[in-house]
Amino acid sequence: MKPYKNKINKIRSFALSLIFIGFIIMYGAIFFREHQWLVIIFMTLGILCILGSTFVYGWIGFLSTRAVLVECPGCHKHTKVLGRVDMCMYCNEPLTLDPSLEGQEFDQSLNNRTKRKD
Ligand SMILES: [Zn+2]
Repeated sequence: MKPYKNKINKIRSFALSLIFIGFIIMYGAIFFREHQWLVIIFMTLGILCILGSTFVYGWIGFLSTRAVLVECPGCHKHTKVLGRVDMCMYCNEPLTLDPSLEGQEFDQSLNNRTKRKD
């Protein structure tokens, strides 16, 4: 079984890694300082990654307002559920908002109506 993560947490770690990738790319520009155009390309890519991360963080903020706050039955903490099925942010307990999916084995494809298995 693949390790599933809470969607908001997953997007947040993606945004964080974008910042690191951006800095690594900009750091990489140092190795090409003899070629000015390469430095410009690397710097631009790095800045784009950091800007992208800022955008993703804003997107998380937007998604959080649409996510449903539920109490996790596993750890009794309040976690945000995004979509039809999601994992608890704290204990990775699979949670669903759809009673018809309750008890089913957790599957990322359950979020997609067309790919739903019966
Ligand atoms: Zn939990």
